[in-house]
Amino acid sequence: MIETSRSQKAGSVPTPGSTAGPTAEAPGPRAALGAPSVEALPPTIQRTLRDDHICVLTFDRPGSSANIFDRRTLTELREQLESIAGSPEIKGLVLTSAKRSIFIAGADLNMLSETASPEEVREVIELGQSVMNRLAALPIPTAAAIHGAAVGGGYELCLACDYRVASPDRATKIGLPETQLGLLPAWGGSTRLPRLIGLPRALEVILGAKTPASKQAVKLGMVDELAPAEYLVQVAARMISLGKPTHRWHYLNNRLAASVIAARLRPKLLKKTRGRYPAVLKALEVVTRGISKSIPESLALERDGILELAKTEACRNLIRVFFLQERAKKRTLAETSSTHPLSRPPITRTAVIGAGVMGSGIAQWLSARQLPVILRDINAERVAKGMAGIAAIYRDGRKRHVFTPREVRDGLDRIYPSATDVPLRQVDMVIEAATENLELKKKIFQRLDELVGDDTILATNTSALPISELAAGTRRPERVLGLHFFNPVHRMQLIEIVVGPRTAPEVLQRALSFAQQIGKLPVIVKDAPGFLINRILMPYLLESGSLFEAGASVTDLDEAMLDFGMPMGPMRLLDEVGIDVALHVAQTLAASYKDRTAVPQTLAKMIQAGLLGRKTGRGFYVHQKGKEPRVNPDVTQHKPPTTDHGSPVANCRVLQERMVFLMINESARCLEEEIVTDPADVDFAMIMGTGFAPFRGGPLRHADTLGAEKLTGAMDFLVDNGAAHFKPCALLQSMAKNGEKFYRDK
Ligand code: NAD
Repeated sequence: MIETSRSQKAGSVPTPGSTAGPTAEAPGPRAALGAPSVEALPPTIQRTLRDDHICVLTFDRPGSSANIFDRRTLTELREQLESIAGSPEIKGLVLTSAKRSIFIAGADLNMLSETASPEEVREVIELGQSVMNRLAALPIPTAAAIHGAAVGGGYELCLACDYRVASPDRATKIGLPETQLGLLPAWGGSTRLPRLIGLPRALEVILGAKTPASKQAVKLGMVDELAPAEYLVQVAARMISLGKPTHRWHYLNNRLAASVIAARLRPKLLKKTRGRYPAVLKALEVVTRGISKSIPESLALERDGILELAKTEACRNLIRVFFLQERAKKRTLAETSSTHPLSRPPITRTAVIGAGVMGSGIAQWLSARQLPVILRDINAERVAKGMAGIAAIYRDGRKRHVFTPREVRDGLDRIYPSATDVPLRQVDMVIEAATENLELKKKIFQRLDELVGDDTILATNTSALPISELAAGTRRPERVLGLHFFNPVHRMQLIEIVVGPRTAPEVLQRALSFAQQIGKLPVIVKDAPGFLINRILMPYLLESGSLFEAGASVTDLDEAMLDFGMPMGPMRLLDEVGIDVALHVAQTLAASYKDRTAVPQTLAKMIQAGLLGRKTGRGFYVHQKGKEPRVNPDVTQHKPPTTDHGSPVANCRVLQERMVFLMINESARCLEEEIVTDPADVDFAMIMGTGFAPFRGGPLRHADTLGAEKLTGAMDFLVDNGAAHFKPCALLQSMAKNGEKFYRDK
């Protein structure tokens, strides 16, 4: 089961600290237990009977673009199935959806949220299992006609059918992504998928949380056939005319093979997840044990497995992250009026200034989302280099089946490269991504001010320079803001929208809608050095550099943070960012946060020696094409000789604490200074922008888990031992004193 919630679709997404209550449209878990009858509400399933006596059930949730499985829909489906079972004239059943891009998006995760009691979770699992069982037990042949996302519970419904036919459209995605949320498929998915496609492939899908496109799903056996969306029901009806299918036999679906597979996979999964994500291990156990049992016994294993997982902190945090993503996709500003002229029209014409790493990445992203883009750099050579970079991203996307050849051609055609000034009057949004230099950017903004139309929004992708200064040099400071994309643009979903002191709310709203329109996840932050992400990340990276100078090895540092749950260690990240870029940002931040920012001397020495990280092939690691980076044995030569005191900090826990405490402290300061006002914004942005251990829920959620008193006690200890930069900020100190937490729900 996977979810999207109805209350989210209605725009009221529960956020940590404020779990949304039941709504009139669909009761939440507690209300539903003693719930009003579903008969009082408009149906979510339409039923028709064709002339050939095949019944068609069409999922069509009223007032929503998505279908989801909540109690109401499950109960309705159960009633429909009972009625169909009692209608001897019905010869077959087709299940389909009326939505444009969703078959069924899964179970409503609100039913498994932190407010649900273990009894409620058990009840919902058993309800789902019994409905799927009812469908699987119908004596008539059944088929799922799938157009749009059929994921989690949506695909478990398909698995309970005899046949599956899917449309080849891009919107059609099929699979079981539950382990990504710290759960496992427990409405029959862990039991029926291995019986359908064989144990090894089913494990690939379930443990990898895969949701392949329909063509791939056919190859894997998850779907029987492809058919155009408009013929799906017809093809499903033809399949039904073949009668009930015979059961498939898979030679590895037996106890012995399953135990060998489990024994081989378990250590690999443990190594990969470092034991931080219990769901994959539990799913492996449930699937491999369940395969040699009866269906009811296997379903009982599923149920017990998910009940165990739903209690874990990892699962709760992963579900919270999911809800925060949904919130970012739909967020609007309360204070803007949607009738204001500036907040109305969507952005249709764009320009990007600077065709370097970021400018070309942004132009590619916009062009792939149907937007025409003018791409400007200082000379033809730079423009050509940028275009080559864009072509490479498209080529790679084509290889990975993200784009068709036609989409690549059309995308490239939407980009208008230019090495000279061109009129920009008709452009709605200009994104400046030129070299990080305040004077240069000020000049660019002044020139843009002359070239663009009155309503054009001027955005900068600067990493750390003040928006206020760029805005001040223009006649339109209210139309200037920051749109901070992350590198690589086509992989990183987060975007920081930086609000200058004079940015108009309507402009902010339009930028917010733009970020959502282009499929990014926005976080709105105040204009201050480093904004949010770089400000929190930099103390962590600099501390890793200081620890390196103090004697910790590159491997110790990176291993410590991988073990904490970061996707990449800090030394490796410094190499990826570029030592020169990191030093530049560090110096900008050091100028503003002098009291606590010491820049390790090693970085400047590495730059002098040409060790810039991945881009020069050498940094803390040696990078060779096609090979895993290995630690650069020469890098220790660049440490200042006076700083290495042997290895006083080699203990993994000590290393982790030092690096993580600084991120927590800076996160708390960002709240103090109202860079953002909601702790969930910090946590969400750090998870999406830096990969901060998602199972820990973000730096502030992690601080709550540690407890402010314990945390500040440990920080004070470091201060007493000569590390003054660990001084807890005023907010943490007062929280420790008053026994407070960042989130009210814990
Ligand atoms: P880059 O050096 O790769 O590219 C900068 C480009 O700007 C160059 O092609 C340069 O010729 C061009 N340029 C310079 N002056 C210009 C002018 N007057 N008009 C038009 N183009 C001009 O730099 P980058 O890494 O792409 O960074 C660009 C901006 O994005 C910077 O502000 C940087 O801080 C920010 N940023 C970078 C990253 C990153 O990881 N690289 C991430 C987020 C934000």
